Amino acid sequence: MTTKHQMTAKTMNDLEHGDCRWPIGDPRHEGFHFCGAQQMAGRPYCTEHWNIAFVPSKARSPGSQSSQAALIAFRKAA
Ligand SMILES: [Zn+2]
Repeated sequence: MTTKHQMTAKTMNDLEHGDCRWPIGDPRHEGFHFCGAQQMAGRPYCTEHWNIAFVPSKARSPGSQSSQAALIAFRKAA
């Protein structure tokens, strides 16, 4: 059984220490928010998103670059 985290839907202002900072959606669009799940110890993201962030691009299926694009956008904005 897969553990799915809840839709916490945190905005930049709602993020607290220990919340996953994975951006969800487009920062330029309404509804953009952060994962907000519990971070892995010493990591900025939850387990799920940490794994996504560090999967080598060659292992991704074609067309799944949106999360990476969002990550880049987030880093620019940070
Ligand atoms: Zn997350």
